[in-house]
Amino acid sequence: MALKLEVLQVGGWKPFSLVDVVGKITFTVWACGCNLKCPFCHNWKQAEWQDCMGWEPLMFENELEQAKEFVDMVHLTGGEPTLQPKLVKEVAKISKSKGVPFSLNTNCTTPFALKLIEIADHVATDIKVPFSELSGLPYRTSEVFWRNFLNCMNKLASMKIPVELRIPVAKGLTMKYLDTIRDIVEKFEPNRVTLVINPLVTEPLTDPRNKEWCSKYCYKEGHLSKEEESLWKEFAERLGVKYKIKRWID
Ligand code: SF4
Repeated sequence: MALKLEVLQVGGWKPFSLVDVVGKITFTVWACGCNLKCPFCHNWKQAEWQDCMGWEPLMFENELEQAKEFVDMVHLTGGEPTLQPKLVKEVAKISKSKGVPFSLNTNCTTPFALKLIEIADHVATDIKVPFSELSGLPYRTSEVFWRNFLNCMNKLASMKIPVELRIPVAKGLTMKYLDTIRDIVEKFEPNRVTLVINPLVTEPLTDPRNKEWCSKYCYKEGHLSKEEESLWKEFAERLGVKYKIKRWID
């Protein structure tokens, strides 16, 4: 599945971001392409290789040199970066050469993710449940990818790096799968985990891939209800992990 592109493709980068990793200032790079079809995806154009540009390592290196004193980590996100393993390796190598930790945001469903997480100092991933519904894939394909994801979680849990486990919350759906989420989070040492409860939102806050799906499962109000927030708070506190419940509108 790794793509042999003549030129690696990115959507761009931003030298300073406060919103991509909880509590961190990141130099964020967006990779193009994705193997999933999440209906709530707001980066779907880049995920489908639109609005992309060729990767310019020298330009990235120069900009990182100027920004490195002010950022906590380089965060490579997407799209799904592991579809372009060479890009992941190059971004990691340049970041580390500048003394900046490398953070990889991966959906952890590709076979390459298993190896590539080994070079990351921090990993962020979504726990998408129910996976077939949230990945937008036909059931049989989603079954294979879900197995890859669980393997990736097992490997990640055996590593000693910090992780950000993000839970995209679909209205009326995700709360039914708390046991599945708990089983995954419990694989990790609690002090290594930041849990991000992320209510899915729709227009006009974002431009999701499938607006009809979002009209049913996304939070037009931009946040969970007070009752839902309390339940997630209790859930995270029982697991003993750091957590953040996102509110897109207060
Ligand atoms: S994994 Fe991320 S980038 Fe890929 S389709 Fe889903 S939300 Fe979009």
